[in-house]
Amino acid sequence: MDLGLKGKWALVGGASKGLGFGCAQSLAREGVNVVIVARGGEALEAAATELRKLGTTILAVAADITTEQGREAIWTVAGGPGKNFDIVVTNAGGPPPGDFRTWDREAWIKAVDANMLTPIELIKATVDGMADRKFGRIINITSSAVKAPIDILGLSNGARSGLTGFVAGVARTQKLAGNNVTINNLLPGKFDTDRLATTHKAAAEKTGKSLADIRGVQQAQIPAGRFGTPDEFGAICAFLCSVQAGYMTGQNILPDGGLYPGTF
Ligand code: NAD
Repeated sequence: MDLGLKGKWALVGGASKGLGFGCAQSLAREGVNVVIVARGGEALEAAATELRKLGTTILAVAADITTEQGREAIWTVAGGPGKNFDIVVTNAGGPPPGDFRTWDREAWIKAVDANMLTPIELIKATVDGMADRKFGRIINITSSAVKAPIDILGLSNGARSGLTGFVAGVARTQKLAGNNVTINNLLPGKFDTDRLATTHKAAAEKTGKSLADIRGVQQAQIPAGRFGTPDEFGAICAFLCSVQAGYMTGQNILPDGGLYPGTF
């Protein structure tokens, strides 16, 4: 299927590795020019070098996307589209796991800033231009924890649910939906990335079990019998960005190998 995305511009946050990289790669395969953002210079440059092999323009911005200066660096990167992106994939690192009794106001503000307010700022900066140009796709990478909360990830459960509520409203406005601008959330279940390794480490420390045991037990609980790959995740993201997906907005898509047990 030709997704109809050749020559479009995408912004992908947290793209030096993991799910963000998977999304950037799938979009570049479809002929999309991509601005990739991550804080770390070396990993980011390695990701950019890999993506450039696919033949589109790849611009790497080393910045913290959760700050105003970081976002300014994205809008002003030389050779980029300014704020005129066709596709925006919002993504940054998830908040740390822990016990809510130990989280102070600062910990909460940090989580809300990264996983709720940053996507909202990126949406605010780009969607009206998308509506004027009659094409726009926003994908927010959130978490399966929005549907099935994970006890040690309370900061994530809370901050991402706030974003989900906001998106449910704004995606359904006529100004956006009526002008071919869609906003959808992708809720990863368990994908084999550094982030997953961090949550496994926390679980191992909490329970005293080995990392191999934790991985084995978790994989056995997933009907698919395995963790997902960033490549699979990226392919779903690219489809949601496609011209064919224009009638789908305000949705929460849960790629999780069948782990979530509900009908809806
Ligand atoms: P990852 O740790 O493998 O990659 C995160 C990427 O984001 C890296 O490129 C990192 O450099 C970048 N990043 C982090 N903070 C940033 C910031 N402030 N500004 C710019 N870049 C930043 O993580 P992942 O597994 O790809 O996860 C992506 C998101 O999905 C995270 O928010 C994570 O919590 C969430 N998630 C992941 C899973 C999973 O199974 N992997 C499950 C549920 C939710």
